[in-house]
Amino acid sequence: MNSLGLYIHVPFCDGKCNYCDFYSFKATSKELDEYTDILVEQIVLWSNKLIDKTVDTVYFGGGTPSLLGTSRLVRIIEAIRKAFKIACDCEITLEANPTSANSIDFSELKINGFNRVSLGMQSALDEELKLLGRRHLKADVITSVDNIRKSGISNISLDVMLGIPQQNEKSLIETLDFSIFLDVPHISTYMLSVEPDTVFGRFRERFTFADDDAQAKFYMLTSDYLKKQGFTHYEISNFCKDNKYSRHNMRYWELKDYLGLGPSAHSLIGSKRFYYPKSIEAFKNGQFIEDGEGKTKDEYIMLMLRTDRGVNNKDFKLLFGEDLSDSFIRKAKTYERHGYIKTDDNGISLTEKGFLLSNTIIADLI
Ligand code: SF4
Repeated sequence: MNSLGLYIHVPFCDGKCNYCDFYSFKATSKELDEYTDILVEQIVLWSNKLIDKTVDTVYFGGGTPSLLGTSRLVRIIEAIRKAFKIACDCEITLEANPTSANSIDFSELKINGFNRVSLGMQSALDEELKLLGRRHLKADVITSVDNIRKSGISNISLDVMLGIPQQNEKSLIETLDFSIFLDVPHISTYMLSVEPDTVFGRFRERFTFADDDAQAKFYMLTSDYLKKQGFTHYEISNFCKDNKYSRHNMRYWELKDYLGLGPSAHSLIGSKRFYYPKSIEAFKNGQFIEDGEGKTKDEYIMLMLRTDRGVNNKDFKLLFGEDLSDSFIRKAKTYERHGYIKTDDNGISLTEKGFLLSNTIIADLI
C-alpha cells in the first residue's frame, strides 16, 4: 500500500505554558472557524496531488487541537475522508489538554473515526502544574480520562514531564503511580528544556531547574519504573503496553511519507522534505518552504536508533542497496563494550543507557 500519514496542526492554546516556545496563540471562535475553512481547503488541494496515497494515520497536534471543539474536528475528519482514500484500520489521534478535553463529545468523535487520544497531563501534582503554567489540575485529568473511556476510546496516552522545577524522585513517582492507576496503554515522557523565549528562559533565576545528572536520574527511574509495570520502552521518549505504540509517530522514525498541514508543520513525501512557515496567511496561500532531501542513510540511522528496533542490517540493505559501513560497525562495537549499544546478527540498537546519551552517540556514529 502506498501509505500516507496526515498531521493536522492546530496552533491555538488557551494560554501560554511557562516552558513553551511553540508557535501558538489564543483564538476567537471566528478565528477557529476560519482556520477550519483553511484546513478543509488545503486538504482538498493536497488530496488532488496525492491521489495514489492511502491515509493510514491521522494526528491532530498543536497547540491544543481539542480547542477546536467537537463540530470543527468532525468537519475536518469528514473532509479528510471525502478527499483521501482512508485505510479501514486508520489510527486517528487527537491531542487534548485536560481542560478543553472536558468540553469535547468523545462519543461523537469516536463515531467519526477518532480512536486515540494523547492527553497533556505533564504531572499529577497541582503545585507542579501551577509552576509549569498549565491551566488544568489533577482532577481534570481524571475527568478527561473518564470521559474518553466512556466514549469507547481506550487507546489513551499521557504526557509526563521530567525535570519540572522542584520535582524530586518522590513527586515523579507520584505522577508515574497516578498514570499507572489510570491504566493507560501509552506514556510519553519529555525532559524539560529551558528555551530563551519563554517565562522559564526570561526569569531563569527565579526557578530551580534539574541539572543534567538529576535529569538523567529521572529518566532512568522512569524507564525502570514503567518497565516493571509491564511497559515497553519502544522509543527514547515513549512507553507502551500491549503493542499500543503510536503508529503515526512511528512513521517519522521509519521515514514513511507524511503530510503536515498548518503553520510550522513539516512533511516528507518521496524524498522531499518541506514545511510551512509560522504564518497562517502563508499556509492559507499554500506557501511552503523546501527543506532538502530526506530518507538519506544518515537520517535513517539517526531516527531508527531512537527506537528499540534499532538499525536492521537487512532493512538497511533493502533501502540503500549496501551494508552498514565497516567504520560504523567498528564504532558501534566500541559503544557496545561500554554498555551503550547492543549488537547481534540482525543489527544494532541503543541500550537504556545509550538512549540517555543518544544525541552524542548518534552524532559520533554517523
Ligand atoms: S498547551 Fe502545549 S502548545 Fe500550548 S502553550 Fe502549553 S505547551 Fe505550548
